Amino acid sequence: MFNPCLQIHTKAGTIISMVKVIPRAEHTISRSNISDGALKVLYRLKNASYQAYLVGGGVRDMLLGREPKDFDIATNALPEQVQEQFRSCHLIGRRFRLAHVRIGADIIEVATFRAAPLPSDTGADAEGAFVDTEHRIDKDGRIMRDNVYGSLEDDAWRRDFTINALYYNIDDFSLVDYTGGLADLKAGQVRLIGDPEQRYREDPVRMLRAVRFAAKLGFRIHPDSEAPLFKLGYLLDDISPARLYDESLKLFMGGYAVQTFELLRHYGLFGHLFPYTEADLAHEDSHFPMTLVTRALTNTDARIAAGKTTTPAFLYAALLWGAMRTLAQQMQTQDMTESQALQEAGNIIVARQVQRTALPKRFSLPMREIWNLQLRLTQITGKRPFVTVTHPRFRAAYDFMLLRAEAGEEIQALCDWWTRFQVVDGDEQQGMVSPRSGTPSGSGKKKPRRSRSKSSKVVSASQASDAAE
Ligand code: ATP
Ligand code: MG
Repeated sequence: MFNPCLQIHTKAGTIISMVKVIPRAEHTISRSNISDGALKVLYRLKNASYQAYLVGGGVRDMLLGREPKDFDIATNALPEQVQEQFRSCHLIGRRFRLAHVRIGADIIEVATFRAAPLPSDTGADAEGAFVDTEHRIDKDGRIMRDNVYGSLEDDAWRRDFTINALYYNIDDFSLVDYTGGLADLKAGQVRLIGDPEQRYREDPVRMLRAVRFAAKLGFRIHPDSEAPLFKLGYLLDDISPARLYDESLKLFMGGYAVQTFELLRHYGLFGHLFPYTEADLAHEDSHFPMTLVTRALTNTDARIAAGKTTTPAFLYAALLWGAMRTLAQQMQTQDMTESQALQEAGNIIVARQVQRTALPKRFSLPMREIWNLQLRLTQITGKRPFVTVTHPRFRAAYDFMLLRAEAGEEIQALCDWWTRFQVVDGDEQQGMVSPRSGTPSGSGKKKPRRSRSKSSKVVSASQASDAAE
């Protein structure tokens, strides 16, 4: 249902909406909190006699006293007209046509006001196919293309959540609220604009966005917007893996991964992004994957809070480790070495996962290296540790091993060995790697010796992991 306080449905079916304009003196947004790049773009558009507003997360976050991640701009200038105003400006997007303006190192996204599809449009025809050339909606109600330009008011109503539809007007520094966003900001709630189920069907990624904003802002999802989440997760299965990959990073690398993960699982959405992880988490007999995933997410959040770097390679290594290991264990019974099974299971899990979230090779390759090094890290005699420690991915692999230990895998002694190996001097290192110093207990069970008749098939773990890299 539309927010009743701001829209009135007349008998004739027309909608009258009541806009709230909050003058500068009555709100807290100050130009000093807006980036120079965004201000330049706003003023340039204004000086060229266009309307120009800051909108979206920038306005929302500033009103909450948070530092905005980025600034989005909405204008009545068409994309080509925006392009005319700036030396460095690219038009992007098919589903939405947007202008990307480069100001110094910043890229500012400028979107022309757009209108939502009319409710009657979504009725489509009997085939479920549809409608006009600029709004395309498929049989599930999903918007395939969305390039109908409109007024500021149209633009407000087609946005996802009320708290994301607040506009800061560069012309008089006022705030414009068509949808009740300010009241929802005060109440701490994420509420879809319009009919929630219809809006989720138009774009199922809005379900992920609802969860993301609730987790990030510590808001609740309004009950009407929350109810469909439990039943519409399957709609995510039709979203492109490239878009879901981008969303997965926003969900898990935005600093609130733990809460986000818990909410996604609560609504049954997580399994549509990471089906193999979800299946592994559901295994009652092993609590490792759950602990490993939550610990990895806790670490990621802590690193982001401390301003440290994080990489999707490490995140995905943790998310998929349990599923990969379970598969490897099943395969190993089919007369494969541990290393071969890990390799093969890694291939299979990655190939399956990229059909859901298209992890690019530049991250899947280092992720595989982190996994492969887990086996290498069990080899702590002779020259091997000296080579392993120089591997470019050693640090990540070592951190990953610590995480596995924290999650309950019995490798603490091995972790302690590597922790010590990195800090002692050369002589002591030599002492540590001499075969007589023995394997630390808990570094993994000794593999049973295989009979000679099978020896042609047997590859030592170390050879296999080398061959794999
Ligand atoms: P963030 O802090 O993550 O940048 P944001 O709200 O700015 O949050 P963006 O993805 O940058 O999110 O989108 C900018 C704005 O565009 C949103 O605030 C919202 O108004 C609108 N928007 C983005 N995605 C959608 C969508 N799928 N459906 C409707 N409106 C959307
Ligand atoms: Mg934004």
